[in-house]
Amino acid sequence: MTENIKDKVVVITGASSGLGAETARHLVREGAKVVLGARRLDRLEALAKELSLGEEAIFKVDVTDREQVKAFVDHAVKTQGKIDVMINNAGIMPLAPLEMMRFDEWDQCIDVNIKGVLWGIAAALPFFKEQKSGQFINVSSVAGHTIGAGGAIYSATKYSVRVISEALRKEVKPYNIRTTILSPGAVDTELPGSVGAPGVSEAVAGFYHQTAIPADSFARCVLFAMSQPENVDINEILFRPTAQEL
Ligand code: NDP
Repeated sequence: MTENIKDKVVVITGASSGLGAETARHLVREGAKVVLGARRLDRLEALAKELSLGEEAIFKVDVTDREQVKAFVDHAVKTQGKIDVMINNAGIMPLAPLEMMRFDEWDQCIDVNIKGVLWGIAAALPFFKEQKSGQFINVSSVAGHTIGAGGAIYSATKYSVRVISEALRKEVKPYNIRTTILSPGAVDTELPGSVGAPGVSEAVAGFYHQTAIPADSFARCVLFAMSQPENVDINEILFRPTAQEL
């Protein structure tokens, strides 16, 4: 068993697929209590069944809605008695050149990837402050460190996650709260499906097909960051497939 995981209450946004779902599997295996949120309730129900979790372990939430995210975290605390880790993981990656002016995607990407993280922080922070303990794990990306053509909006959101997390890290020192940024490269999930721009989606799918590594790579990083002793704060993990140059 990995240390410092058992019995921790871990709230995960974007848990209906990909990195969030795989992290839930690893955490449950290690004895953590997970509360899983996303919009697709059927997917959450299937995951809860797979992991033998009760219905209180899943919650339908749209992270763009501040009240819904607050209700999600409140539900976790009400049913589990506390919250130890908030994983702000939900995200989309609608890559496209700016000249395509896919305005709805710009809006949604900013709302999910930036505001969703902010709402998650806002919902969990009062509990962490009160407890004088807790850990935020905010999901950025290699795209939060480097920018490619077609990646302006997505990278802007993922740089923002790092900016927000770094300020948060400094602000919450008095409360014994840990802050971790996880920045993956290409990992095999449903994320390429959020690329809708003609021409771009095929290229991204091809790149992922050739390069992406399994989602347990990410879950192991979560476990590593969580398992450190209370006085060790892993601030960021940046990892890529060995084959990924970008
Ligand atoms: P997936 O597409 O497999 O999962 C995305 C998750 O986000 C789903 O569970 C989805 O749930 C959820 N989500 C999307 N929009 C909303 C919303 N409005 N409200 C609530 N949940 C939402 O992709 P990944 O698992 O790969 O993505 C997880 C995170 O990892 C994202 O932040 C992504 O940017 C980041 N990342 C991923 C990389 C990769 O290569 N896979 C690389 C770098 C970063 P639902 O649709 O049911 O609401």
